[in-house]
Amino acid sequence: MSSLDPMFPNMEEAEQLAANSAIFWEKERQKRAELYSLWQDYEAILFMCDKCKRVFRGEDAEIDHESDLVVALLCPKCAFKLGILQTEADAEELHKLAKLGHQKAKSAIKSRAKTNDD
Ligand SMILES: [Zn+2]
Repeated sequence: MSSLDPMFPNMEEAEQLAANSAIFWEKERQKRAELYSLWQDYEAILFMCDKCKRVFRGEDAEIDHESDLVVALLCPKCAFKLGILQTEADAEELHKLAKLGHQKAKSAIKSRAKTNDD
């Protein structure tokens, strides 16, 4: 048994935490780099604002409708533009995104299929 306070990690644990955090942010950055469509599940991605360093989930980002075709994701604190997402997706696109596991694309396919049945 260690006599150290479990709330304070030793150096080794602290380094491990930092490494995990670096890996974590690398994954989120990767997901963010792959964002291009509103039909991807951007809501669950954790963002760090490039400008003010605010950390927030995609669902908390401000949405700016730049045109009928694209929206911009903005930092909720400083309104820095984090990315541009296409609003339109054809059936092929939705199927591709659904295959990658995006829930929004999956439910869009379902609801479109339902509409076609009517
Ligand atoms: Zn910001």
